[in-house]
Amino acid sequence: MVSGRYDTVLWCYLFDIREENEALKQRISDLEETKILSDDLELTDKGVYIRKSEKESGKNMIYCPTCYNDYKKLYPIVSAIGNTKQCTKCHGVFR
Ligand SMILES: [Zn+2]
Repeated sequence: MVSGRYDTVLWCYLFDIREENEALKQRISDLEETKILSDDLELTDKGVYIRKSEKESGKNMIYCPTCYNDYKKLYPIVSAIGNTKQCTKCHGVFR
């Protein structure tokens, strides 16, 4: 009886540890992605982000600094009305 309850506690404990382990693995993977991304980023004198790897391959994409700071994700800034450009996520306007 007593050992049965002990087994249950142990299984619950093991299950919790496995769950925590999975969550930590995911967290590490997210952090590695963020690190790789931030190493590749360059803030231009216009106050927007570019990726060095894309610049080297001839791409001219620019990314929203506000959204990167908030979400750690890159959202492209695209041409909008007139001479302005606009973030595809927060709709912030850039010139
Ligand atoms: Zn934005």
